Amino acid sequence: MRPIQMVDLKLQYQKIKPQIDEAVLQVVESCAFINGPQVQSFTTKLSEYTGSKHVIPCANGTDALQIAMMALGLQEGDEVITPSFTYIATTEVIALLKLTPVFVDVDAQTFCINPADIERAITPKTKAIVPVHLYGQAANMEEIMKIAEAHKLYVIEDNAQAIGCDYYFSNGTVKKTGSIGTIGTTSFFPSKNLGCFGDGGAMMTEDDSLADQLKMVANHGQSKRYYHDVVGCNSRLDTIQAAVLEVKLEHLDEYIAARRAVADYYDAAFAGHSEITTPFRSSSCKHVFHQYTLILNGVDRNKLHDYLAEHKIPSMIYYPVPAHRQKMFSHFNSSSTELPVTDWLTERVISLPMHTEMEQEQLQFITDKVLEFITLNHTV
Ligand SMILES: *Cc1c(COP(=O)(O)O)cnc(C)c1O
Repeated sequence: MRPIQMVDLKLQYQKIKPQIDEAVLQVVESCAFINGPQVQSFTTKLSEYTGSKHVIPCANGTDALQIAMMALGLQEGDEVITPSFTYIATTEVIALLKLTPVFVDVDAQTFCINPADIERAITPKTKAIVPVHLYGQAANMEEIMKIAEAHKLYVIEDNAQAIGCDYYFSNGTVKKTGSIGTIGTTSFFPSKNLGCFGDGGAMMTEDDSLADQLKMVANHGQSKRYYHDVVGCNSRLDTIQAAVLEVKLEHLDEYIAARRAVADYYDAAFAGHSEITTPFRSSSCKHVFHQYTLILNGVDRNKLHDYLAEHKIPSMIYYPVPAHRQKMFSHFNSSSTELPVTDWLTERVISLPMHTEMEQEQLQFITDKVLEFITLNHTV
């Protein structure tokens, strides 16, 4: 059996090596390393794939969030509503821009921000909501957009973990996550569902003038060459990364299908075991399984992690400390915020290996070992 990894980037690369190598070599030979034609052609293809009118590439998913908040003109002291149960980048950029993060709880089933908690957190200072489509499952965008419209708030979708996820509105409309809010942001970090060979990111919007603003902020606040209208930053997607992404985008749907097949295998193996809650499958979206994350009931999660490690099975805790309990936010006194679902999940979640190249034999071994541990160590 091949060694089990959380993500097997080598094997994924091997399968498309000729196309990738040719695409990268073309960039190297052209020496158009910055803003070469592949940046535009990839961006156009991603815009077609996601159905977003404008896709603006940038250097990484954290920059994408930051540039989105800058382009919307958010000002010091403005409140931004965000889940605490997310990767730190989502919340960090809020504080970096001297905005105030307002942490709210998540839904225990979807792991995503809870609309009812958003409504309770709105004040006259609230300017934006940042839902995160965590682990590849969409937040409740229908409710979130209603709340945002009623209170005239911007919505920045952190779509770093859910690129390609279809969201179904109750009126039958289908949209990709990231194309629903005011701005969608994503990351092309190598282990993401659409990953490049380094760092990369993008923003999407339907709004023409906002697209201009995003481009301007990402490019030194420049409206035309050497004329700088606003304070911006330097955040670009390298041509080599765009070339890699252009090849990989062709495979994204097949990658998503492979991830969903792994999830189906896990779901079936764990069905009927009350100690294990498998990921919720919402009827309002098609989960793209960036992560396959279990909730353990009456079983020591950390001991399971160690047991699996003894058998050379990696597993991860995403995330061991929620944002509102991080030292970096202590001046907001955020740890006194009551987020019972977030705290509850933080103690109980564990993510199993999930990638596009998993083999049946590996899946069987992983599920056998998980079940073996559960049977031996049920404590409650
Ligand atoms: C990966 C990730 C980011 C940041 O992306 P980078 O490209 O690493 O900067 C932001 N938000 C979430 C939810 C992520 O998973």
